[in-house]
Amino acid sequence: MSTQPHYDVIIAGSGPAGSTAATLLAQYGYSVLMLEQGQHPRFHIGESMLPRSEPVMQRLGIEWSDGNLVKGGAKFIDEASGKTTFFPFQGKYRTFQVERSVFDERLFNNAIKHGVAAQQQEKVTTVNCSTEAVSVSTDKASYEGRYFIDATGRSALMGKKHKSINKLENLGKFALYKHYHLAKTPATDALFATGNIEIILTDIGWIWCIPLVDQRLSVGLVVQKQYPDDLKREALYDHYINASPRMTELLAGAELWADLRVEADFSYFNAQRYGQRFACCGDAAGFLDPVFSSGFFFAVKTAEFIADQIHQGFLEGREADPTLHAVTDQIYQTGFQSMYLMIERFYCSNLVHNLFFESDREERIKREITAMLAGDLWMEDNQFQQGLLRGRHKVA
Ligand SMILES: Cc1cc2nc3c(=O)[nH]c(=O)nc-3n(C[C@H](O)[C@H](O)[C@H](O)COP(=O)(O)OP(=O)(O)OC[C@H]3O[C@@H](n4cnc5c(N)ncnc54)[C@H](O)[C@@H]3O)c2cc1C
Repeated sequence: MSTQPHYDVIIAGSGPAGSTAATLLAQYGYSVLMLEQGQHPRFHIGESMLPRSEPVMQRLGIEWSDGNLVKGGAKFIDEASGKTTFFPFQGKYRTFQVERSVFDERLFNNAIKHGVAAQQQEKVTTVNCSTEAVSVSTDKASYEGRYFIDATGRSALMGKKHKSINKLENLGKFALYKHYHLAKTPATDALFATGNIEIILTDIGWIWCIPLVDQRLSVGLVVQKQYPDDLKREALYDHYINASPRMTELLAGAELWADLRVEADFSYFNAQRYGQRFACCGDAAGFLDPVFSSGFFFAVKTAEFIADQIHQGFLEGREADPTLHAVTDQIYQTGFQSMYLMIERFYCSNLVHNLFFESDREERIKREITAMLAGDLWMEDNQFQQGLLRGRHKVA
């Protein structure tokens, strides 16, 4: 008989996906071990949230208004033509702009408060799932369990093991971003009062502008198209930020809060998201270009799907069934496909000019786009979404 520590569920990764799955399973009464290679608080990009994450936060017992800036909606701006359009989030769920290092640590501590055993600075290296059990090795110890959840984010532990990560081409290629502390001006006061994310179109991609608490601003340049060869990354970022009248207005008198950071190679899907005694959630299941701020939402939503389904599998004695997640994964795929198709249209079919700017003239289209931007991806009567799903370019 094995002497290794035994848990019902072992989770690799303690970002939003890992902490959400861990907390929900602990609420069901299971013993859960969560292993994190880093140490909270740790920096993470991805500050702009969607309203449809709120029901999951409620299940976790997280009051996410604490310490975060209320997000009014999403504004799209084309400075070349002078056109703008705004999608307000006025439905029954609220949403926020959050500082991820602080918020992710809160979600992590909340999991511990619910009885989850957690280890930090311990990296999962090997996972073996058989009909009988799961064995997990780290750089420090070995564990056994009944179920394994991969919540390792873009490290995609199981996806790499199964060689099932497929890149999605034609979306953003890389992001360059900085954080600032803004001066108090009428323009910055107005931005913090609305809490809106602003998406500014450029000829090589787009700029995000996300206000945070304490007068701070997250600014990123996402590059999709060919850019001037003579510009190195920092100069490229400065060139496009300085060329934007809106950014120039907001950054007047600002202090740099954090230096340039880079993220590349985003946008992929994991073709093997579940199997015998394992499931992947959050970025480990798939990741989409951040233009519509969907990453955190998919992280907590997939974690919720998986935690509920594992509970069901344990109750029904189906925990070794490799198809345990087949039905909920289909539901997730509808959401993921819809968001992917909207992003693909953003880059490849000029969605903002052809539809977003025109939507102010048609209330139904405005409402349907707003619903999707809020993360409301499972409405049966959203004609805009149905049109996307009937169209071309679906991912497998
Ligand atoms: C440029 C950019 C901008 C973004 N902007 C937004 C945005 O505005 N809004 C939004 O919602 N999303 C945004 N995102 C995406 C969002 O940040 C992610 O989707 C979200 O963090 C996913 O959560 P997760 O828990 O799956 O992964 P993560 O938050 O990455 O957590 C994974 C955790 O697993 C740990 N880990 C990894 N490997 C191992 C291992 N082997 N063993 C143990 N632990 C391990 C890591 O240390 C990490 O803590 C953005 C992403 C990028 C790249």
